[in-house]
Amino acid sequence: MKGNKFPFPIAIFLLCLISITSMGAVSGGAQDKHGEFQKFASELKGHFGNLGWKDLVIDRPDWEYHRKTRGDRPLVFTAFGKSSEKVALFLGGVHGDESPSVYILFRLAQFLKKNPKLYSNKMIVIAPLVNPDGFLSRPQKRTNSAGVDVNRNFPTKDWKQSRKDRYYSGPHANSENETKFQIALVNRFKPSHIISIHSPLGCNDYDGPSSDLDSLVIWLKEVSKENGLPFRRYQVFPGSLGNYAGMERGIHTLTLELPSSEPLKGPQYFDQFKRMFLDLLDLNP
Ligand SMILES: [Zn+2]
Repeated sequence: MKGNKFPFPIAIFLLCLISITSMGAVSGGAQDKHGEFQKFASELKGHFGNLGWKDLVIDRPDWEYHRKTRGDRPLVFTAFGKSSEKVALFLGGVHGDESPSVYILFRLAQFLKKNPKLYSNKMIVIAPLVNPDGFLSRPQKRTNSAGVDVNRNFPTKDWKQSRKDRYYSGPHANSENETKFQIALVNRFKPSHIISIHSPLGCNDYDGPSSDLDSLVIWLKEVSKENGLPFRRYQVFPGSLGNYAGMERGIHTLTLELPSSEPLKGPQYFDQFKRMFLDLLDLNP
C-alpha cells in the first residue's frame, strides 16, 4: 500500500526540484552577468580613483556588451539617438596607457545622457575602453594582455606580422577580441564618422574620402588651429583603424591625438574638445 501512496508526492517533489533547479540556472546566469559587470565596474572605479578621476559614474543599465577580453573583462559600449545618416562612433582606450581618452568618453556618455536634445537628429555610439586589459594592468600598457597593439590588428589588405614590440600586430589579422569588437561596432552601426582618441602626439589625423576642398577637412583644419594641433592626413599603418575604416571602407575617420597622456588632463580635454565632438556631425562632408 505504501508503495501506491508515495509516487504522486514524490513526482510533485521531483517536479518542484527540477523547476527550482532550472530557475536557479536561469537567474544564476543573469546574476553571473550582473556580478561580472559589477566586478568590472568596481575595478574601474578603483582605478579611476587612483588616476584622480572622481566624477565618473558607471551604472549597469547604461552599458551593453556581448564580448569580453582574454582577461574576462567586458567590452562595453552605449548608443544615444536613433540610427540615421549621421552616426558617430567614438573609440577610447584603444591603447591602455592613453588615459585621458578613457576619461573623455565616459564623461561624454554621462553628458549626453543628461542632454538628449544634443542628439535628436543623430546617433552617437561610444566605446570608451576598447582595451580594458591594458588599461587595468599594473602598470598600464599600450597593448592588450597578449601583447598585441589592437590598432595594428585590423584585417587590412597590407596587414603583416610585425616584430613583438609595442606595435606587435598579432599572430594573424583580426586575431584579437578588441579588434573584433571594433569591427562589430562598425558593422552594426554603420558610422558615417569614427573618432578614435589617442595621445600624446598632439595632432588631428584624418583618413577617409574627403579632400582638401570638402567642408569636413576645411573645418577640421580650423578646429585643429583653434586647439593648437597640427592637422595631418598621411601615413597609414598596416592593420590600423585609419587604414581599415578610412582608406578601405571610405568612412570619415579622425584620429584625435591629445597632446598628453597625463590622466589629470582628462577633465580639461573634455571641456576643450566637447564642442568639436558635437559639431562634427552637423557638417556636410
Ligand atoms: Zn594610441
